Amino acid sequence: METELFIGGKWVPASSARRFDVLDPATGDVLASVADGGEADAIAAVDAAAAAGPGWASTPPRVRGEVLRKAFELMTERAAELARLISLENGKALVDAKGEVTYAAEFFRWFAEEAVRIDGNVATAPSGANRILVTRQPVGVCVLVTPWNFPAAMATRKIGPALAAGCTVVLKPASDTPLTALAMAAILTEAGVPEGVVNVLPSRSSGKVVSAMLRDARVRKVSFTGSTEVGRILLAQAAENVVNTSMELGGNAPFVVFADADLDAAIEGAMIAKMRNGGEACTAANRFFVEAGVADEFSRRLAQRMSALVVGPGTDEKTQVGPLVNEDTVAKVDSLVQGALAAGASAVTGGTRPDGPGFYYPPTVLTGVAPDAAILREEIFGPVAPIVTFTGDDEAVRLANDTEFGLVAYVYTKDLARGLRVSEAIEAGMVGLNRGLVSDPAAPFGGVKQSGIGREGGHEGLLEYLESKYIAVNW
Ligand code: NAP
Repeated sequence: METELFIGGKWVPASSARRFDVLDPATGDVLASVADGGEADAIAAVDAAAAAGPGWASTPPRVRGEVLRKAFELMTERAAELARLISLENGKALVDAKGEVTYAAEFFRWFAEEAVRIDGNVATAPSGANRILVTRQPVGVCVLVTPWNFPAAMATRKIGPALAAGCTVVLKPASDTPLTALAMAAILTEAGVPEGVVNVLPSRSSGKVVSAMLRDARVRKVSFTGSTEVGRILLAQAAENVVNTSMELGGNAPFVVFADADLDAAIEGAMIAKMRNGGEACTAANRFFVEAGVADEFSRRLAQRMSALVVGPGTDEKTQVGPLVNEDTVAKVDSLVQGALAAGASAVTGGTRPDGPGFYYPPTVLTGVAPDAAILREEIFGPVAPIVTFTGDDEAVRLANDTEFGLVAYVYTKDLARGLRVSEAIEAGMVGLNRGLVSDPAAPFGGVKQSGIGREGGHEGLLEYLESKYIAVNW
């Protein structure tokens, strides 16, 4: 298990010699001690990325693609051990961790294929006087900041397109889950990534190290996935040096079930949209809006399925729902649930935090939730499904849009025209129509409103790491 900083192709201790503990969420015990990067280490990582930049940018796209393809193969070969590592430090059930490794590796495969599809274009100027030649160039040194909920996939979703485009990177992983990011650095090195192209900087002083890098004029991009609150801070810091930004921020996904929906499919979709990753996903269904007429049946059936899930340590093969990542997360989930119950909601299942050890919360279904309850405004990030009843398309759209977030929405109806109308009217970057899962490396993932700026995945994910250069030519 790698536990040092990875800078310029070498495993190095923090210059301060400081370290921090990574905990096992199933027990609260210490799992590993990791080097704690500081500002000097961050600048050393930018030095390495800047030095490697020109060489990597001029490496043939086919070669860059083949390195990424090799990284995909290595991740696939080592899926079992990577899944175990994710499960150990994040707490998620092995079944979710295995799913994450497959999803994460797919970003390397997809961007291996995209590396050779960096095109430009040529046109005749309307005046006829010259040609307009547009080429694409890598943005330059990128700072990548990732959250703990998908420690592998959030890293590969950024590293894949950055490397395909010819950029070099410094990855600052979440301090709850740095071990997976370090394992990714080892895999990328084995796959042939030259020294300095990928640097990984675990740190407990995230604010300080990231702002030190953003103040460095050599850094040309920051790609961040995490909370809207931290996203706002980074947008303000990026403004100082006019740094290119991509922001994948919080969500508050509505899950809308019309009375004409196929209820079997809606329950199946709800289980995925709510319970993938134990509810710790930005795409997690956060607010269930179910049309009067099917609301009781939907609530009863969802509660039946949720209460049958096996809760336990993530690394146990039988487990379907692991512990949440840390104490703060469980405390927040519990306070949202208690707030909703105090305001008149009923728990059809769950709703009571068990005694320790470990950061567990039971799958919970709440009905009769007050429309102004905090649980409908804030990201729950846990296995809790609050259900609200509505009538008619207009009310569904109004409720769905009543949030500052706009990442993803889910809509269930057998009437495809209604489904498309409602999908268009909901303010979200992505919609799952009769589907509880939207994430796909080949599709543009991202949000509107305060859920973010930019897209990851698809061809658009590559463009985030490229600048267009226009050359006015006479020939
Ligand atoms: P977070 O607290 O915003 O942290 C995300 C990352 O930012 C971590 O690496 C964190 O480091 C770092 N960080 C914290 N404060 C910082 C600062 N002042 N300056 C620079 N970096 C800072 O979010 P989280 O709790 O890890 O993740 C959950 C959030 O991520 C949720 O809101 C979820 O919706 C969002 N998310 C969004 C997407 C998407 O694609 N839209 C995907 C996954 C998750 P430390 O760990 O050291 O604090």
